[in-house]
Amino acid sequence: MEDLGTFRIKFAYFHRAWDRESDSVQVLKSQGRRVLPHEFTLEMDGFIFCPECHTPISRRPKNKEKMTNGRNASFVHLPSYRHIGCNLRVNKGGGRRFETEEEAKKAIADEQLAIISAFIVERPEIKDVKKGNFDHSFIEDINGEVSDVPISRHTGESFKLPSKITTVSGLCRNFDDNYYKYFVFPGDTNARRLDSILVDVNRVNDICDIPKLYFGKVQSSVSGPWDHSIRMTKIFWNRSGDFLDFYFKQNNKDSKDHGIDDNCRGRIILMYGKVERNGLGLCLSNVGWGEFSLLPEKYKYLFEH
Ligand SMILES: [Zn+2]
Repeated sequence: MEDLGTFRIKFAYFHRAWDRESDSVQVLKSQGRRVLPHEFTLEMDGFIFCPECHTPISRRPKNKEKMTNGRNASFVHLPSYRHIGCNLRVNKGGGRRFETEEEAKKAIADEQLAIISAFIVERPEIKDVKKGNFDHSFIEDINGEVSDVPISRHTGESFKLPSKITTVSGLCRNFDDNYYKYFVFPGDTNARRLDSILVDVNRVNDICDIPKLYFGKVQSSVSGPWDHSIRMTKIFWNRSGDFLDFYFKQNNKDSKDHGIDDNCRGRIILMYGKVERNGLGLCLSNVGWGEFSLLPEKYKYLFEH
């Protein structure tokens, strides 16, 4: 995503009793309340924490929602924790690397890192699902292989780490927890935060053979009546370069199982794949069953600023 400078910390965790020295990060994430800059009140001061480094943070300005220059308030790190590295504090490109295999395994155990070896391609067979009402919460991650992952800080060294095979819907399920989590996507050579993995379709202006995780806002979606009809979902796109428009093309049945129908205008769609030519425009087309999802409405705020 684009660099939003000091606006990079989209939300903070608010927890009145959490202690960084003695309590686990999972406690903060599961019991803490997610607070946006405009929701901050003075009584929260001292009890809100960075979603990545988990140090206490503050809002600037503290007691009103706007700066004197009219800009919206934002969360900022405290100088007293400057010795603790955080990628939300500095504008650090690239990704995160690990000193030892143990450090990487601990990050996986602490749910701060996940190795994705693949996304589920085929539609899983699930019984007891009512027609037209596919419940994605049934889909569990599949354990992938333990494989050599090149995320060591030392050149040429890789770690043996467990991977999983998952779905984009799975990433969307607890999207705000995942937003600042590190992932190694298929083929990646470092761990990157999900917010920096996501690519706005409005930054795309040509075909691209490397699969990436794109997001965009649905402008319209239409399909023929049949399951096998191709549903043409048009994405809001600032025309640039030589191409006319941007579509997500997927068969009607799979689209509808993901909630993509004639009425999903305005929703955010996430899709993993290659950008191809589509007539005079561009598209992602016929991606795997687990490679796309509508973002639940409650997480839309992460894409608005
Ligand atoms: Zn931080």
